[in-house]
Amino acid sequence: MSETLENLSSETRKFPPPAPLAAAANVTAPAYDQAAADRLGFWAEQAQRLSWAEPWTQVLDWSNPPFAKWFTGGKLNVAYNCVDRHVEAGHGDKVAIHWEGEPGDTRTITYSDLLTSVSQAANTLTELGVSAGDRVAIYLPMIPEAAVAMLACARIGAMHSVVFGGFSVDALSTRITDASAKVVITADGGYRRGKPSALKPTVDEAVARCPGVEHVLVVRRTGQEVAWGEKDLWWHETVERAATTHKPEAFDAEQPLYILYTSGTTGKPKGILHTTGGYLTQASYTFHAVFDHKPESDVFWCTADVGWVTGHSYIVYGPLSNGATQVMYEGTPDTPHKGRFWEIVDKYRVTVLYTAPTLIRTMMKWGDDIPAKYDLSSLRLLGSVGEPINPEAWMWYRANVGRDRCPIVDTWWQTETGGIMISPLPGVTETKPGSAMTPLPGISADVVDDTATSVPNGGGGFLVLREPWPSMLRTIWGDDQRFIDTYWSRFGAGAGHGDEWVYFAGDGAKRDEDGALWLLGRVDDVMLVSGHNISTTEVESALVSHPSVAEAAVVGATDPTTGQAIVAFTIPRGNVDTEGEAGERLIQDLRNHVARTLGPIAKPRQIMLVPELPKTRSGKIMRRLLRDVAERRSLGDVTTLQDSAVMDLISSGMKSGK
Ligand code: ATP
Ligand code: MG
Repeated sequence: MSETLENLSSETRKFPPPAPLAAAANVTAPAYDQAAADRLGFWAEQAQRLSWAEPWTQVLDWSNPPFAKWFTGGKLNVAYNCVDRHVEAGHGDKVAIHWEGEPGDTRTITYSDLLTSVSQAANTLTELGVSAGDRVAIYLPMIPEAAVAMLACARIGAMHSVVFGGFSVDALSTRITDASAKVVITADGGYRRGKPSALKPTVDEAVARCPGVEHVLVVRRTGQEVAWGEKDLWWHETVERAATTHKPEAFDAEQPLYILYTSGTTGKPKGILHTTGGYLTQASYTFHAVFDHKPESDVFWCTADVGWVTGHSYIVYGPLSNGATQVMYEGTPDTPHKGRFWEIVDKYRVTVLYTAPTLIRTMMKWGDDIPAKYDLSSLRLLGSVGEPINPEAWMWYRANVGRDRCPIVDTWWQTETGGIMISPLPGVTETKPGSAMTPLPGISADVVDDTATSVPNGGGGFLVLREPWPSMLRTIWGDDQRFIDTYWSRFGAGAGHGDEWVYFAGDGAKRDEDGALWLLGRVDDVMLVSGHNISTTEVESALVSHPSVAEAAVVGATDPTTGQAIVAFTIPRGNVDTEGEAGERLIQDLRNHVARTLGPIAKPRQIMLVPELPKTRSGKIMRRLLRDVAERRSLGDVTTLQDSAVMDLISSGMKSGK
């Protein structure tokens, strides 16, 4: 990519925070000034949200960049901070987790219950020979034991490596091997799409390839038949019979907490390493600030799976360190019917909902009449994460879910950043549909050109982070060199110029005339059409703004005349006729619509109407696979693809020239 990204779309709608929310907001405008005046002092103050067994001596040690140490000398126990201290403060009877199984079974888990379970699991892991620094792989459905297992590892200073419960034997075994995990925690199965879906057979095969695994701890969830080997132990025969008390030991602020592999949207997943003091500080502060969490009245629901970073930071560590009450749901959004999410919001009177653009666009496809049937009046704040949210999806979310009352926080961050980095503050920021707005207090994000120079307002380029932040990744597990090469070798000191270490996020962005940030997708996905750098996100958003379109993915395919040409894969909304001539007319109409919205340079060469798009298990569009299809190559790494049949469907559509 050369100097800048073209700035094609212009969005003028603005939404100020609702006055009552602004008046009672946890964080107000002066936080930005305070953090700008003294960034480290600001983070030191946020670290006081936690209980430290020993105070730190230095906020940030950046003497060996890019390897950061935060709160050096400090000691704490992460599980104590997420569980015990709330019980000690008299909130033992408060509900931590309202769990809803897909078949409709429920469990209510208080902070006291959580303390008992986490203590038992910590005792069992210790008995199984797990000690501080060891790795435990967790391969579970969305059941409370997932959070319990993570906290039990944290409690004894062991590291967890959560692997999404839908991954294959290959994906699981390579992650177990990469981390040299000693113990695997799994279940017989979980419920998905109305039926039990087995997990244990995948673990059996994976463990057969991983001789380093000593024990497999199995939760009984579905009751289905499982093969039983000598490494296997039932959770209910071990954990649930273990001693119910456990004394938490304090560990160093840089004690590793977990390894988590990135989604694999752009290539082979990276094992991201997070540690404890800084990570928990930022997870805790951002949950308090961005979701304006009110412990007395809020019911939070993050719809992510614990298998990706959003589940780590905003199901486990952020909410629980704040003593929040939250909903955890096991299943899919359309089981047994397409209103399931809204039924859950109503049932538990959810006040703050955090979900992903992919889900919002799916709900758009299903139709407005579905959310309209439910009482969503408990909601007061909505969040989005995972991909750029197209302005029309944002507007749909606001109107149909938020009923034009609730502010939306579009939160940009990554597995690597550990916590939210760029987001509106709901009581402060006037939001624009599709923009993540501004960096949070204490975060220095910037948009730069090829030479690491900030672009002016109105310009576009690379998103970078100029200063270390508490929940930053510490390295890629076992591969410091890849850590340096991937994130620190593009700009600044890491690239051999300047003395500032600049973190390269891999995302394109623009800064509008007001200084608000717009995420424009992966730098790898930027298209170069007749000498213009065009972002996939802007073209996709133009397509989604057409009333017949629910979702779109755009890629640049090699073209003899323009260098690259824009190829769009488009999912029509539910009620749209796409048969024969109607389909041809729609395609022409869409091409013209994009040209009118963004200019003729962005007019797609080809538009295909498809039933589905290839997505990662975390719901992100995998454009690299579509580029392979558009350029008629064989597919790259598909291990994190959600549904492999989708690629066959799309490729066969390509061949028939549709
Ligand atoms: P890999 O690094 O293996 O390709 P991944 O980047 O998809 O996988 P994650 O860490 O889960 O793995 O995702 C982070 C990325 O998601 C960001 O770099 C960005 O591209 C995208 N993203 C997340 N939130 C937002 C948002 N609010 N707006 C725009 N993009 C977002
Ligand atoms: Mg990434």
